[in-house]
Amino acid sequence: MITLTPEQRQTIENAIRTVPDFPKPGIQFKDITTLLGNPEAFRLLMDHLAERYAEYGLDYVAGIDARGFIFGSVLADRLGVGFVPVRKSGKLPYTTVAEKYSLEYGFDEVEVHIDAFGENGKQHDGTPSRVLLIDDLLATGGTASAASTLIDRLGAECVEACFLMELDFLNGREKLGVPVYSVII
Ligand code: AMP
Repeated sequence: MITLTPEQRQTIENAIRTVPDFPKPGIQFKDITTLLGNPEAFRLLMDHLAERYAEYGLDYVAGIDARGFIFGSVLADRLGVGFVPVRKSGKLPYTTVAEKYSLEYGFDEVEVHIDAFGENGKQHDGTPSRVLLIDDLLATGGTASAASTLIDRLGAECVEACFLMELDFLNGREKLGVPVYSVII
């Protein structure tokens, strides 16, 4: 099931609820809680991602705070690799590296533990750890591009950024210097 049939893709898409005007007027919020509560759609999605990434030789899946934690940790467990949380600043207890990104008004920041991908981001044989970045939705790409910069700065390699959904009219994938895969565009 590396390639989803149109029907399977539709099952996943139908399980996502669109909530108009949340958290503010004009935003069409993509609510994935309905997908999480639908065992058929959730399993279909995770089976698809587990098959797609089985041969990527990943060392870690890095999930973006907070919905990326859900999909990322299930996928990491399926693949038998480590999971790394990329958190909003101020949440991680040990030494961190941080990367700012701009929002419509002001800035936000994501951070990871300095040793999250191994010492200097390397495996024991000295090769860069291979990391898949994952989140629920790619919008402007600001959050994911800050997260992929962090992976780079730590000496690891972001081999792909994966999203359940992509709002392609915002051109977020152009901001990311890594391959992008979105299940629903
Ligand atoms: P961006 O940095 O603009 O690509 O925004 C991506 C982050 O914001 C992701 O963590 C998404 O979960 C969240 N996000 C942005 N827009 C939406 C939306 N329309 N519906 C749900 N989540 C969104």
